[in-house]
Amino acid sequence: MIKMPIPCRRCGSADAEVYIPYARLSLCPECFRDFYVKRIKRTVEEFRMFRTDDRVGVAVSGGKDSTALLHGLKEAFPNMEFVALHVDLGIEGYSEECREKVEKLTEVLDVELEVYDLKEELGFTIDDFKRTIYRRKICSACGTVKRHIFEVLAGRVGVKVLATGHNLDDIVGVMLNNFFSGNWSQLVRLRPVLEPVEPNQTLKVKPLITTPEDENLLYCLYSDLPFREENCPHAHKERISRNREILEFLSKRNPNFRHQMLRNFLKLIPILEEAIEKPKYRRCRICGYPSSSDVCAFCRRVELVRKAKGMNIKTEKA
Ligand SMILES: [Zn+2]
Ligand SMILES: [Zn+2]
Repeated sequence: MIKMPIPCRRCGSADAEVYIPYARLSLCPECFRDFYVKRIKRTVEEFRMFRTDDRVGVAVSGGKDSTALLHGLKEAFPNMEFVALHVDLGIEGYSEECREKVEKLTEVLDVELEVYDLKEELGFTIDDFKRTIYRRKICSACGTVKRHIFEVLAGRVGVKVLATGHNLDDIVGVMLNNFFSGNWSQLVRLRPVLEPVEPNQTLKVKPLITTPEDENLLYCLYSDLPFREENCPHAHKERISRNREILEFLSKRNPNFRHQMLRNFLKLIPILEEAIEKPKYRRCRICGYPSSSDVCAFCRRVELVRKAKGMNIKTEKA
């Protein structure tokens, strides 16, 4: 059977290759890219993520989401200045490729790149957490380390806004998790714009919060962008995919499900915020960053990994 090509719903002149179920749109690659970039622009404007005269830091990992984010932001705001921030985690058989792709991408886009090399600057890698109590929760330790280091990088290059590549599926998945476990304080952190705890820290924004994950991949492919294809060896597939299966199942029944979930949760967040007790912050005794305890989560993990490696414990003030 020969399948007849359907014309693109937007331009009508090219063959449609992409079907967007929640919008019931069949698009050609060019019109899809346009659709994708316009949504980023709309999302940034709707949630007032930054002003066009801001210099914005973009956390890039070399993966499809942050690669599509940096390119999409440049397309949506061609006159703005973006700075790419990358953490080289030193994960064997993985981090090297990530860094290479990021270097290639920023070169093609002519965007300034600032890299933090964990091994060079702190003397350990994420793999070293295998020797600590985090060996089964490496992703959690890695997340804490990355969050802290992106603040350090933002400070180095002097940006006040930090954009991350969290996509719709990530956010709705985590929202569901936190909802099921009643973790309200984490749920409120999933806002599109997260105010800094202290004025010298960054405003965190998620321009892809309304973009489904598979569209990031398509955008990278159609824009011919360099991105890593390997998955992190520490990522636990099973746990992620169970939640994804639920989401996929519900989205098949109702293509708008994820978007509706997001909108409803976003309405709930201000109400939750009023109701929950705000954490009190002080300064970490070691690094000086805001922390809810005497020593922050980052410094505690650094201490652990250094002890496990038999290194001298020494952390400089930020
Ligand atoms: Zn078209
Ligand atoms: Zn600290």
